[in-house]
Order: sequence, then C-alpha cells, then structure tokens
Amino acid sequence: MEKQKPPVQKNETIDLTFVDLTHEGDGVGKINGYPLFVPYALPGETAKVKVIKVKKNFAIGKLLEIEKVSPERVEPPCDVYIQCGGCQLQHMSYDLQLDMKHNQVKSALKKIGHIEGIPIHPTIGMEDPWRYRNKVQIPVAHRHGELITGFYRKRSHEIIEGMDRCVITAEINDRMVEAVRRMADRLGITAYDEQSHKGVLRHIMVRTGQETGETMIVIVTRTEQLPYEEELVKELHETYPQIKSIIQNVNKEKTNVILGKKTKVLWGEEYINDTIGDIKFAISPKSFYQINPPQTKKLYDKALEYADLSGDEIVIDAYCGIGTISLFLAQKAKKVYGVEIVPEAISDAKMNAKLNGIENTEFYVGEAEKIMPWWTAQGLRPDVIVVDPPRKGCDEALLDAMLTMKPKKIVYVSCNPSTLARDLRFLEDGGYETKQVQPVDMFPQTGHIEAVAEVVLKV
Ligand code: SAH
Repeated sequence: MEKQKPPVQKNETIDLTFVDLTHEGDGVGKINGYPLFVPYALPGETAKVKVIKVKKNFAIGKLLEIEKVSPERVEPPCDVYIQCGGCQLQHMSYDLQLDMKHNQVKSALKKIGHIEGIPIHPTIGMEDPWRYRNKVQIPVAHRHGELITGFYRKRSHEIIEGMDRCVITAEINDRMVEAVRRMADRLGITAYDEQSHKGVLRHIMVRTGQETGETMIVIVTRTEQLPYEEELVKELHETYPQIKSIIQNVNKEKTNVILGKKTKVLWGEEYINDTIGDIKFAISPKSFYQINPPQTKKLYDKALEYADLSGDEIVIDAYCGIGTISLFLAQKAKKVYGVEIVPEAISDAKMNAKLNGIENTEFYVGEAEKIMPWWTAQGLRPDVIVVDPPRKGCDEALLDAMLTMKPKKIVYVSCNPSTLARDLRFLEDGGYETKQVQPVDMFPQTGHIEAVAEVVLKV
C-alpha cells in the first residue's frame, strides 16, 4: 500500500478550522481527516497556525492569530495562565468546560467501553468555579536581592516572577504565602538553591479548612534549624488569628518531592480540622485530603445515592485513602471495610472514624488487588462495593474478585474516563450493567475529569 504523507510540513503556516477538543482541552482541526492539535484553540474557531511538530498520524500546531473567534472564548483572569500551565481551560467559558468534560466521559464510554444509550448526566459544576483550592505548595527562590515565591514555569524549575496570586486557590492561602515570604525576607532567612543545594527555605505550604477557616502553615526547609524561628512563628500567629498550626518540615534531599520525612510542630496544633457534610476530618501535614470539599460532597452524595443503602448492608470501600467515602457510607450501612495501600492514610482513617464516633468500620493496609481476593477466600460477600482507584484504574485481580463476590451493586468513582470505560466493559462482560454515570467537576479550569458510575448485577 502506498504510504500516505502527512498533509502539512514542519514550520509551515496554515489556516485551520477547529471542530473538536482533545481530552486535554486542545483544539482539533483536520485536513482530509488528518488531525492537528493546537493548544488554546476552540471548536468553531478559524485561525492561522504554525505547524511545530509533524508525526505520521497527527501534527501539533501553535496558535498565531484567531480569525474567527468562538463565542465561548473568555479572557483568562490569570496573568500567567500560559506560562504556568497549572490550568488548561481558563480560555473557555465555564459552560463549555462542563460540556467538554461530559463529552469526554461519553466518548470514552462509547469508544473504549462500547457502552451507549445509558444516561450520562450533565457535569455537576461549581456555582463559582474560582478560588476553590484549599491547599498550595509554593517554591521559594532568591532573585534581585529578595525572596520570591510563585509556581514554576511550564516544564521548568524557574519560578514565574511577579506571581502573587493564583485564581483557583483560596484567597487566604495566597495571603498566607505572601505573609511568610515577606516576614522571612525581612528576617534574612535564605532561600534554598537547587543548583548549589544551599540555603534554607524550600517551599511554603498552606492548607485551610474551607468550613472551619483553620489554617496550617508548613515551612519546608533544607536544614534542621530554621533561623529566626521564634520571631517568625510569633509574628505569624499574632498577626493572623486563623492560623492554628505552624509546622516545620525538613527535606535535606536533592529531590523534586516537596515534603521530607521529618515534621515538627513549631506552634499550635498537630492537625487542622475540616468538615465535609456531617463528617469531621483531622488533617495532618502529610495527609491526602480532597482539595475541593464542596464538590467532593456532591460527588460522595451521588456515590451514596447510587449505593442506595438501607442500613443492613456490608460494604467494601476499595482505595479508601483516609476513609472519606467509607465514613459517609458507614452512616447508612451495617458495616464498611476499607482498604488502602498507604499506612499513614489508614491511621488517619481510623482516627477520623473515632473522631466521628463511627464504630462500624474496619480499615486494612494493603494492595486492594491482593486484599480483595483474600477477603473473597475468607467468604466475605459484600452487598455493595465502592471503588475509587488512581488514574490507572482497577487491577484485573480486583475486578475478578468483585465478579466472584457478586455484590448486587458496584459504585465506581473515577478520575480517568478511559480506565473507567475499560473497567466497566470488564464488569459488563462479567454479568454487570452500567445504569448511569455522573461527571462532577472537582477541578474547574483544569482538564481533570471526575465521574461516578452506578453498576448493577444483571438478574
Ligand atoms: N477515596 C479516597 C482516596 C481516593 S484516591 C478519597 O476520596 O479521599 C486513590 C487512593 O488509592 C489513594 O489513597 C492511593 O494511595 C490508593 N491506592 C493506590 N494504589 C492502590 C492499591 N493498589 N491498593 C490500594 N490502594 C491504592
């Protein structure tokens, strides 16, 4: 067969009309069926594009000039949107973002899972899709004789200068980072330098409970000793009464990992508190905690609705983290078994159960794909299984275990539509049926997509 040559060449400038979006939110234009992917272009737009990379089956272009502008295009409110790369969708209206996420779920289910004709509901969005992140971790550097803080430029370790706010981060966190930076600068605390592996201050991490307003500051240093510790700590908590906890984390390694092993409380509590719905969570510096609690509540309410518990059920929560979903389920079930690979998360889960007076949960440390077959062998037969795996989805051993356990219902919470679709296909081939899927926007302005599926045993 004659080999088809790509219809474009590198460095060529072309006119392109956009017809679709990729799952990262890049514009897709086609020349005789050959796709070109162009960041920041929107469907319905026509633009001058410079071809920057040509492959056999696709090319990548750079947007030069938009000739026909989509009505869905909006001005990104962030000054450093393009440099930063933390957000991918700020140039899109929020309605288009929600629509795009819905379509991604629908198309993954169809293409990968061969699942069609079931309700895939419109994405549940936020009323105000800005300033939602309850946690920031900002690197510190020394430039022009002073300390600076800000995110790294895309694909680099160079801090974007003049970046004093992040429009998807809770305002209080921005203010706290700024306060620590200013005080540390005045006291003469040095910034860590990656090249020479010298200096003190590496990162400033701030987490604030959205419901409680309690703030934790974590000062990440290369050195055991934090110079001017007393002055810094005193000024911080005297100036800002919402600060409940000031922690030092020591990270001596040459590494991109932000937190080191050792944490010490410099002032105040070891934890801050937050609530999601009726459940209270104590959050330690290293704990995973959902970064958008109001949307998490909506997601878990859906998961709970799909689980349809009456109070008599045995439930498994696989990939349970700090037990967030388990504790919600436990209020409506007879017994919940949680399994999770990170030991610290399981100690948090146990502590959070106690904190809420919840006594019908049991948490286990281990790989879900090993513990589930073991539970099966022990004769455990849950009525409902909830899974919330990482991006790579469920391990086949775990899916097999679910088919053997034969719960009447499976609720699948997913942060990756592709692996969701793959796993739903596996379950459907094993005798289950996907009833409905609900996308929930946990990360507005970014390309991340979260969805929950209701899966029932066919009779
Ligand atoms: N349901 C929790 C956490 C979901 S994130 C919440 O909503 O807060 C996915 C979790 O799966 C993480 O906590 C991760 O540590 C855990 N994990 C990853 N691989 C795992 C495995 N093989 N077995 C069990 N847990 C795993």
